[in-house]
Amino acid sequence: MITQKQKPLNVLFLASEADPLIKVGGLGDVAGSLPLAIQKLGNTSKNSGQVDIRLAIPFYPKLKEKLQNVQLITSFFVESADGPVKADLFSTQLSNVIVYLVAGEPFDKNPAVYGPDYLADAEKFVFFSLACLEIPRAIKWKIDILHANDWHTALSVYALEHQKIMDNYLSSACSVLSIHNLPFMGSGSEEALYKYLVPPTSAEGLPFWARLLPLPMGIASADKILAVSPTYANEMLTSEYGCGLETYLGNHKARLSGILNGLDLDSWDPSIDKDILFQFTSTSLDERLKNKLALQKEFGLEQLPDIPLLILISRMDHQKGVDIAIEGLRKVADLPWQAILLGSGHSNLEDACRMLQKDLPKKVRAAIQFDVKLSRRMYAGGDMLIMPSRYEPCGLAQMIAMRYGCIPVARATGGLVDTIKNTNMRKTGTGFLFPHPDPEELAATLSVATQIFKDKPRWTKMQITSMSQDFSWPKSAMAYFQVYQSLINPSEEGIK
Ligand code: ADP
Repeated sequence: MITQKQKPLNVLFLASEADPLIKVGGLGDVAGSLPLAIQKLGNTSKNSGQVDIRLAIPFYPKLKEKLQNVQLITSFFVESADGPVKADLFSTQLSNVIVYLVAGEPFDKNPAVYGPDYLADAEKFVFFSLACLEIPRAIKWKIDILHANDWHTALSVYALEHQKIMDNYLSSACSVLSIHNLPFMGSGSEEALYKYLVPPTSAEGLPFWARLLPLPMGIASADKILAVSPTYANEMLTSEYGCGLETYLGNHKARLSGILNGLDLDSWDPSIDKDILFQFTSTSLDERLKNKLALQKEFGLEQLPDIPLLILISRMDHQKGVDIAIEGLRKVADLPWQAILLGSGHSNLEDACRMLQKDLPKKVRAAIQFDVKLSRRMYAGGDMLIMPSRYEPCGLAQMIAMRYGCIPVARATGGLVDTIKNTNMRKTGTGFLFPHPDPEELAATLSVATQIFKDKPRWTKMQITSMSQDFSWPKSAMAYFQVYQSLINPSEEGIK
């Protein structure tokens, strides 16, 4: 058992984005919430002072415009074939977590968080990953854990393995690499790696093509590899999801596990959500119905309380199975339902949504935009969320939907399996799962779901159960903390 007198565990957490400072996607949600939840854990009276977790993100020009009064702490250089590249280190706070902001020419040259230019992105994130390893020495803070996320910062894990022998502030650090999206490995990074003098990995068993890709390089060096759900961790070992790394990962299974992401319960709370017309809880679902009627009116759909209002809130991307949703809905066009599809992304999928509205004008509305407030009104008024993902490392939308009493109808993959309890004619859970990314299966599941929807007491029970699921960050944070503890004290138990 860890005693309370021990020195705090120093964790440097790296990410390419962190909400609310800068957010592009789900990674921003995690990096903006998880370090705070871990820090809070260590600050409970029982575990007082046991964690000092600090976040580092790039200081993108857009973020510089937004943040006034940030303090320049120090500057240092990252070696490159073209000479040293200067990094300026600033700091700010997110709640009681210190956030380091790393500025430098690669970000000024290519200001987008993720740009269309692969090579420019590679240069930004290779520079950032290497600069972050200089932070401990620059601020005289010896780290115990380096926690990187996705390909953007995975290279720091690889570089740590080589630099720790020369740097006292890194010498006892263990590394954790979280994988939020395995297919994105940092392709196009070769040139940037040569520029920053990073040699290919010679890790035994790693495929040749992966030796100059930041994510596999990090995977090969990490003391612990974490997927963002237990099911996704297992799926990564299969050829369907492993993206060519399944054999390597299978041979290193002992280093791999999965921890489910949490949800920001303060932000996603239908009882206080200011963006919805009628706040509600699981004991006031009548109020919820008013949100549905308002949503139908807003979209010019007939205000029918008794037919299910289906929603889709998603990036318009192949991964998310938007095409499967559209095909599936066409197959059940004769059943009573209405649908609102919200999303933006690939134009062929956007067009397919518009076409569905054109073909089924009484039933379907396509809202091709990114609109968080509208998404909130939809979670609050929709009856079912369609989520036919081809793969889903964790997924937030289904957790939000359940918290808002909107029942997910989802493909049984990744985090969807870990968060949704399946319902069928005999058993009542918190949603509906179908095994394959197939419009036929979605259609069959929708027809069961619309059938069960007619049974009001049963439906209400499902809503109440889904709204009471614990998707909180503290639960996930404790699991991460225990991973950190197990790395630095392999023989000791984590905080209980
Ligand atoms: P991913 O991170 O792979 O896109 P997630 O389900 O983990 O998928 O998270 C998606 C998040 O983005 C959810 O919070 C969802 O509500 C939100 N979202 C997706 N598309 C839109 C949109 N068009 N407008 C508003 N919010 C959206």
